[in-house]
Amino acid sequence: MNTPVAKDWYETISIGDGITRVRETWVAPWLRCNIWHVPGRTHDLLIDSGMGLRPLKKEISKLSGKPVICVSTHAHFDHIGGAHEFDCRLGHHNEADIHAFPNQYNTSDWGPFVRAETFSALPYEGFQYQDYQVKAAPLTGYLDEGDTLDLGNRCFQIMHLPGHSPGSIALYEKKSRCLFSGDVVYDGALFDTVYHSDKTIYRESLKRLKDLPVDVVHGGHYESFGRSRMIEVIDRYIQGDNSIDDPESWVLQQV
Ligand SMILES: [Zn+2]
Repeated sequence: MNTPVAKDWYETISIGDGITRVRETWVAPWLRCNIWHVPGRTHDLLIDSGMGLRPLKKEISKLSGKPVICVSTHAHFDHIGGAHEFDCRLGHHNEADIHAFPNQYNTSDWGPFVRAETFSALPYEGFQYQDYQVKAAPLTGYLDEGDTLDLGNRCFQIMHLPGHSPGSIALYEKKSRCLFSGDVVYDGALFDTVYHSDKTIYRESLKRLKDLPVDVVHGGHYESFGRSRMIEVIDRYIQGDNSIDDPESWVLQQV
């Protein structure tokens, strides 16, 4: 199969409330990360940075041109690939080593996730999926439970919600009742068996979210959703009906 090289790699959609969702168009839907841009008074917030297959900073600068605070919700390869392009890189200290020394194993970038069928167009001429690996991007600061990120016009509280990974964080804005949840919760089956996942801890993190006064959840994958759907996704998980026990066979079924 001769896969073409993509002209435009990123798709950028304004989803209201000043928020822009950026996605890597040609990455398969089951892997495609939601990259969120939230404009601030002096700095903009970028939540996650995708696979890092094409320059991201240039794309983000089109949105407002202000300096960017790049927050990684966790250190899986599909969320941290573009972080190295930004000077300010924040995340949880539990995954600091992974940001500094990423490899295919510790970023969960293993075989079936990144293969020829993952891409409906190539990011650049000569791209070889076998050689893909994220670049090191050591954190320049840490975020933990109870911290706040104040953009001047908007203020986000950090929630530490381990389980999917030990340093998973979410960003909650009380005023707008919106939650950027990374891979802790999204509108799909949840991963709790990848490298450094912990099912018991994950359950506790999800139970916490059920009490959060939230109107909209912007997850790390798929579409945004409301509180009732969030509770449904969590309850199904707790009942044992919404997790991916065998990521390898799950991934092979997606393409
Ligand atoms: Zn993840």
